[in-house]
Amino acid sequence: MVKLLDEHERTMAFAEVALGQIKSLRQTAVPRNYEIWYVYATGYNSPLNKIINETLARNGKLTEADLEQIYETYLSQIKTSDRIDKVGARVIGEIDDVTKLISDALGMSQSYDASLDGASKKLSSAKDRDQVKAVVEMLVKSTREMRETNKALEDRLSLSKTEISNLQHSLEAIRAESLTDPLTGLGNRKYFDRSIETAVQTALANGEPLSLLMFDIDHFKSFNDSYGHLTGDQVLRLVGMSLKQTIKGQDITARYGGEEFAVVLPNTALRQALTVADHIRRAIMAKELKKKSTGEILGRVTISVGVSMLKPGDDTDALIERADACLYAAKRNGRNRVICEVDPEYTAELQGQVA
Ligand code: GH3
Ligand code: MG
Ligand code: MG
Repeated sequence: MVKLLDEHERTMAFAEVALGQIKSLRQTAVPRNYEIWYVYATGYNSPLNKIINETLARNGKLTEADLEQIYETYLSQIKTSDRIDKVGARVIGEIDDVTKLISDALGMSQSYDASLDGASKKLSSAKDRDQVKAVVEMLVKSTREMRETNKALEDRLSLSKTEISNLQHSLEAIRAESLTDPLTGLGNRKYFDRSIETAVQTALANGEPLSLLMFDIDHFKSFNDSYGHLTGDQVLRLVGMSLKQTIKGQDITARYGGEEFAVVLPNTALRQALTVADHIRRAIMAKELKKKSTGEILGRVTISVGVSMLKPGDDTDALIERADACLYAAKRNGRNRVICEVDPEYTAELQGQVA
């Protein structure tokens, strides 16, 4: 219920910005314009914000044609399902074309075979020079046709190769987008679920250590309440950036949920994982937050981190549950700290639960 209410407040803040813009620029409140301004308010689509800001700075308004163009370029195109449909249609079209071409070429090669057979029979029964000449001319003609068909097939297949490689790139871009959190650019929950499972299976199979960090921004609700959700979103972006700067190599970073993040550290035992966790905690705390629009200093945010390490016979869910429980022990013990599963704060809670 609390989550629902938060989501309600967050989206209402975007809706208010969107309607405010429509009103102040005296635009029609149709769904297209609302969508443009709603996305603008979220800040998720920075090219859209950039073009709107530039057009407004230049002309002081957005015309109907501007709005149409912006929608076509930055919104109608980006719907992943539409793009998948388009790429799918191109794949099917390409397969149809190539299949037809191959079957034409097969037909051609069969008739070439038949004309070779015919020529061989005619040659064996040829009586004079003229008859031999006629057979050879026929052979030259069908060989030329065969060569032309092969050339056309070759040209078309080479075009196809380029088209298929373009399609591969489009599919790869769609796949990457479907696994990315648009706000922070980190992996999303789907990416996390997939990657941790693979990493855990690999670690268990090879007997290698693996640790998991889960962290959550402290008192983020009151930050949002004081400075607004848009500023809250900037903070989430900043946390994402700090994470990207701190975490490198094979480690997996993701936005786990609203203001919760997760890092999987393959080949990393608990002690090193604690060092990484504290590094992230300090990096985030070190950033002084400033409101972009006004330059107002907003202070700092801190995070609480829970750390767990894979045990023999463990599974992904158990590993996540322990990191999560450590994270909540960190919250209950004062926040802005790292707690792992051998710390007394965590073990004391476990005993408390049993008692
Ligand atoms: P705690 O220290 O116990 O974690 O306190 P908290 O206020 O951070 O925790 P709580 O779970 O009560 O609130 C989380 C808040 O995070 C709710 C919501 O305002 C904010 N939040 C979640 N997702 C987003 C988001 O995408 N953008 C913004 N701006 N805020 C978000
Ligand atoms: Mg939370
Ligand atoms: Mg929080």
